[in-house]
This record gives sequence, C-alpha cells and structure tokens, in this order.
Amino acid sequence: MRDFFIFKAMRNALYKIGMLAALVISTACNITQSAASEKTIISERDIKAPNPVILEASVKKNLEYLSSNELHGRETGTEGIEEAAVFIEIMFEENNIKPYYKTYRDTFEVGNKTGCNLIGYLEGSDPVLKNEFIILGAHYDHIGVGKVINGDSIANGANDNASGTVGVLELAKHFSKINDNKRSLLFVLFSAEEMGLRGSKQLAEKLNSEGLNLYAMVNFEMIGVPMQDKNYLAYVTGFEGSNLAEKFNEYSNSKILGFLPRANEFKLFERSDNYPFFQEFNVPSQTISTFDFTNYDYYHHVSDEAEKMDFSHISNLIQSVIPGLYKMANTSEKEIKLNQ
Ligand SMILES: [Zn+2]
Repeated sequence: MRDFFIFKAMRNALYKIGMLAALVISTACNITQSAASEKTIISERDIKAPNPVILEASVKKNLEYLSSNELHGRETGTEGIEEAAVFIEIMFEENNIKPYYKTYRDTFEVGNKTGCNLIGYLEGSDPVLKNEFIILGAHYDHIGVGKVINGDSIANGANDNASGTVGVLELAKHFSKINDNKRSLLFVLFSAEEMGLRGSKQLAEKLNSEGLNLYAMVNFEMIGVPMQDKNYLAYVTGFEGSNLAEKFNEYSNSKILGFLPRANEFKLFERSDNYPFFQEFNVPSQTISTFDFTNYDYYHHVSDEAEKMDFSHISNLIQSVIPGLYKMANTSEKEIKLNQ
C-alpha cells in the first residue's frame, strides 16, 4: 500500500516537472514567434495553427499516459480512473483553466460506485455573450479489465476515448492561451459514459436546472485513426439535425465535417455524451468522430492501445477544428441552429 502511494506521489511530481518543461519550451517558442512578428495582437494564423510539433508531442505523451496499463482501463469508480482524474486536474491547473464549480469535480452516484465528471471553465470576454456557453466534451472513462486475450486483460481505451480526452485537453490549452472567446467555454471530461451516458446525463440535468444558457455542445469520440477515401476529415453525428457541419465548414473555410451514413444506421447520435444535452436543452449537441466501423478493429478490445493511434491524424484534427470553434465562440448571433 505504502509503495503505491510513494510511487503515485513520485509520478505526479514527475508529471508536474514534465508539464513545467513543456510550458518553458512553449513559452520560449512564443517569445521567439512574437519577437519575429513584432506584434502582440492575436493573428488569424495563431488561431489556426498551434505549433504542430509541440501539439503532436503533447497529444502522444498524454494519450500514452491515459491509456497505460497503470490506469487499468479507467473504469468508473476505480483507482485507475482516479489517477486519470488527477491528471486532468493538473492539466487544467497548468493551463489556467478555472474550475466551473468550487473544484473541477462534479461527483455523482452510479449504482454502488462514485463517478466524477471534470469541468474546466474559460469565461467569455464579452459582458453579454459570456452568459452563453459552449461545451466541449469527451468521456474519459473506459470499460476497465475484461477477459484475458493473449495474456492481456486491460482494455486500455486509447481510441475510446483517451483520444477524445486529449483532444479536449489540447483545446482547453489552446483557447486558454489565445484567450479570445466572447462566449464562455466549458471543457468537460465525463465519467460513466460506458455505463450508459450516466455522467453526461446527470451533468446536463444539473446545468439545465441551474439555468445555463447553452449555445451548443460539441463532443469528441474515437478520433484516434483517420478514415480513408473521404472528402471530409471527421463526421459529425446527428448531421441532418442541425446546420452545425455546414456553418462549421464555412467558418473553417474547409470541409472539416461530413456525413457518415453508418453513423445514422447505428444511431450514434444517441450513443454518446452529446445526447443528454440535446434532450435537456434542445440545442445543437453533436459528436465529432473518425471511427467509421471499417478503420479500427479494436473497439472495446484489450488491444485498443496507444501504439495503434495515429498521432499525426489526432493532432491535425485538433488543429483543424480550432477555427470553427473559435468562430462559434465569437459570432454576435447564435448562427448554429437545429433544423426545423
Ligand atoms: Zn466512447
């Protein structure tokens, strides 16, 4: 027992040192960049392009940790997912993301277990529009330990959904750094998704009862491997239910989001954490994914591991959604709407 806690403390300390090193490097790069451009205002280029090398290194490091065997598959209510929660809290803290409630944690009971959503907050800069919120979410829980296959029993959940989790963490980091959102942003990592969307359901109900003015919810699920032969980068569930994809592509000046017929066939719109927000708030709430049923054989499998991930694809996707999200956070009107 004691060894475990010493190990845990050491590892947390090592992570903090690692984060600090990354911060020093990225700060140094920023100084070089702004010295070169001799201006302090945020340019369109900065919004579109976080440094790709730093981004990919960070995506890889964070995803490898979250899907490591040490976290035992991040099942809700276990020590493994608690380690992941502490890690996410450190990431929020290091990137100046504030807790939305008193702490980052929103705990709830699910059966005889305790689940814990994590909610980071970046307040909007406009006195009026800051009362409108955009939620960027992903579940960070997974299914834990399953049956032994080739000596391995830990379902690491690298694609499902360490990939979406690191995506949201990178977006939090980026939006905190540019600090130029008129609307307020919530960065939410959900627990108990694998138990039937329990974390998102309870949070959607809670935020609705508190009168949150939700503009839209954008969720990230299984973005670890690219799709082949598509003329868009990711699909969005509930494509026909709103003009999200159309406006998003217009904002991005590029075809980022598209329609995957199989997403409808498998009712994916109702199968991730976007859905409770749609039910509670009746606003655009949709999931972005690149899992198309043909490009990944390890769904809910012990071999869903970091080494199977395409880090360049994940980083590229995160970079690519930034202009669209930035515009969503800054337009004077709520332009993204449900279709009638
Ligand atoms: Zn998932």
